[in-house]
Amino acid sequence: MTVHAHPDDESSKGAATMAKYVAEGVQVLVATCTGGERGSVLNPKMDRPEVLADITNIRRAEMDRAREILGVEQAWLGFVDSGLPEGDPLPPLPEGCFGLQDPEEAAKPLIKLIREFRPHVMTTYDENGGYPHPDHIMCHKISVVAFEKAGDPELYPELGEPWQPSKLYYNSGWTRARMLALHEGMLAAGLESPYTEWLEKWADRDDRGDKITTRVECGEYFEVRDDALRAHATQVDPDGFWFHIPLEMQQKVWPTEDFELARSLVDSPVPESDLFAGIREKVDAH
Ligand SMILES: [Zn+2]
Repeated sequence: MTVHAHPDDESSKGAATMAKYVAEGVQVLVATCTGGERGSVLNPKMDRPEVLADITNIRRAEMDRAREILGVEQAWLGFVDSGLPEGDPLPPLPEGCFGLQDPEEAAKPLIKLIREFRPHVMTTYDENGGYPHPDHIMCHKISVVAFEKAGDPELYPELGEPWQPSKLYYNSGWTRARMLALHEGMLAAGLESPYTEWLEKWADRDDRGDKITTRVECGEYFEVRDDALRAHATQVDPDGFWFHIPLEMQQKVWPTEDFELARSLVDSPVPESDLFAGIREKVDAH
């Protein structure tokens, strides 16, 4: 089970890993916390009044398409997008939005989903949200609460039979090492790197590269990931930055998606190359 804040996040964080596991026969469920109602239209070709007027339905249809491409199942947790507050000082979050929820309460629909789907592995974002969007931070919080409470038979009997996932991971997003590898790959091939400026400013950024425990080889599925991402047409500019690095180069230079193992109830020495390490062995032994 992968928990994500908005429709489109599942296609940019760990999507090739999901596609790989689906191809191996693993059942994968994406839990989407919000409907993405307050996301701006980031694709100039889709920035039209009729699109904005119907954004909720359009984002649902985009998610359906991405789900088909990835071969996963998907469920909405039903919260309302907080939007990304901008300005100094930051404006208050809109009333009732996901970012303002009490994590203990907001974890309940996720606990219910865990008890129904019974995942062995869960992924979510790190405590900083991967990037500081209030919905991403809340996604982290409810995932941790749900991981800790779903298996407790004393808690919430109305939400179903207890189920304890065995491992919890955080998606690793951009690290300096990954960006530098892609940057150098582009330059070595005589191509222009989109990362020059980012790398110069990297000193201000939080780098969690040293927290990575798990690298999943999934270059074969980068194309599926990109197709799923493009299905979120209001959120992704097909001519944009995401698609500047040729796939073959990504497959050569950085063929993995990376994760931080945050909790494990099974024996799985790190570094690992499989989110199910320590679980497959246990299942096989039975
Ligand atoms: Zn998001």
